[in-house]
Amino acid sequence: MYYIVKFKYIAIILITAVLVIALVTLKPHVDRKEMIREEAEFKKSQPIPEEQPKSEPVKKDYIKWVDFDVSKSAMDYAYKYDIRSYGDENHVTMVELLAYLGAKYGGDFSRFKYKDIYDLTSKINNETSFNEIVADMKYYSYYREAYGAVLDGFVGEFTIDGEKRYGLKVFSPIGGGYGYSHYDDFGVSRSYGYRRKHLGHDLMNGVGTPVIAIESGYVEAVGWNQYGGWRLGIRSFDKKRYYYYAHLRKDHPYAKDFKEGDFVTAGDVIGYMGMTGYSVKENVNNINTPHLHLGLQLIFDESQKDGINQIWIDLYDITNFLTINQSYVKREGNELVRKSSFTVLGE
Ligand SMILES: [Zn+2]
Repeated sequence: MYYIVKFKYIAIILITAVLVIALVTLKPHVDRKEMIREEAEFKKSQPIPEEQPKSEPVKKDYIKWVDFDVSKSAMDYAYKYDIRSYGDENHVTMVELLAYLGAKYGGDFSRFKYKDIYDLTSKINNETSFNEIVADMKYYSYYREAYGAVLDGFVGEFTIDGEKRYGLKVFSPIGGGYGYSHYDDFGVSRSYGYRRKHLGHDLMNGVGTPVIAIESGYVEAVGWNQYGGWRLGIRSFDKKRYYYYAHLRKDHPYAKDFKEGDFVTAGDVIGYMGMTGYSVKENVNNINTPHLHLGLQLIFDESQKDGINQIWIDLYDITNFLTINQSYVKREGNELVRKSSFTVLGE
């Protein structure tokens, strides 16, 4: 009897011990499985981590957008002052003067009054220097850089027919005496291809009207483009401006056999007005009215050249301003060529 009872106790102790051992060893095992499953699910719910860049991306600070609303009359007056004060110790360039006005008006040239130039220039001549005045203007340096990107190639020294001069070294985009009709059409919508804004300026005249290089530079794009037809893209030597001349004449679009990298001088005949474009197929006239589509893109950083960060500006007032400097042409065989010989100093 005693042994039976003792055996019972031993059996209970053993069974309890086995149960305890089982609980101690099995429970964490079940938990670990659960943890692994939960961890896998958590990882699955997380976004795929971005790949670590190999080197820290360089943060660049450059102008992202420019509204160029400088009026023709402000350009006229600023240009005249630049020429008049050239050689003086108080010489103020056209760009500096316009940047001063831009900072004063917050870029809104509907506020332009000639008196503001008059007041500034009499101050410069009597009391203080231009640099002292603009040093106190918070946004002057922004406007100097933004307007400079548009206008820095406009005024300088050049020789024309052997005579050295200082003045406008950019030209009207249409041959001297040919004329054109136009209106401020920047930003109006276009529907060919996809809905988009018109990022340029259209100058209307007949097929064959000579198209002139506004500024010197090098050919960056030539040949057929679905939208622009026969087109030329010319980059200024300081690389800030990309001029785009499009819809050139069918069969005979260019004045020369241009290749990428060719140099072009301001005032050269580069091609002929036409109505090509809006076609995947080359040399097709799909534009209704013969015109030159002119574009001017500003590039502060090469990342702005292509893609979604492009800056194109309104050229209506600029083309009106440029009518004071036209390049006259003559016929030479099958081509029209400029009459005057012209070189920009330093190019
Ligand atoms: Zn256009």
